[in-house]
Amino acid sequence: TVGAITLDQQGSMAAATSTSGLFMKKPGRIGDSPLSGSGFYVDSEVGGAAATGLGEDLMKGCLSYEIVRLMAEGRTPQQACDQAVYPFIEKLQKRYGKAGEFSLVAMNKAGAWGVATNVEFTFSVGNDKQVPVILMANPGP
Ligand code: ASP
Repeated sequence: TVGAITLDQQGSMAAATSTSGLFMKKPGRIGDSPLSGSGFYVDSEVGGAAATGLGEDLMKGCLSYEIVRLMAEGRTPQQACDQAVYPFIEKLQKRYGKAGEFSLVAMNKAGAWGVATNVEFTFSVGNDKQVPVILMANPGP
């Protein structure tokens, strides 16, 4: 999955994801990536988030929405990522004995950003012509 959050000079934000889904997925499977709230979420008055990892687990937490909700309550993007993702992973581990691999990126309407992951993943932060963007790419399984 690749995911991006951008902020333009007028203050509009956008989030996007593109994925091949999981390796050896069943035909017809829909992961988190195309689902607003799970794979991505954005509110131009707050910020946005995007996810990669095991969609079946990401969807249980609606983690992209949860990160934006926490930013709306005043958390920085990094605080929102930390508070949404790590307790949720613990919850999954308690309930199911395991948790999938997750990585999430977030950016707020001021262009500040944060990330959370329980694996190694790649992301970059750019600022082309004063247009901040955070981009992640998961080489995937
Ligand atoms: N999140 C994607 C899915 O579950 C897979 C990935 O991020 O690599 O379909």
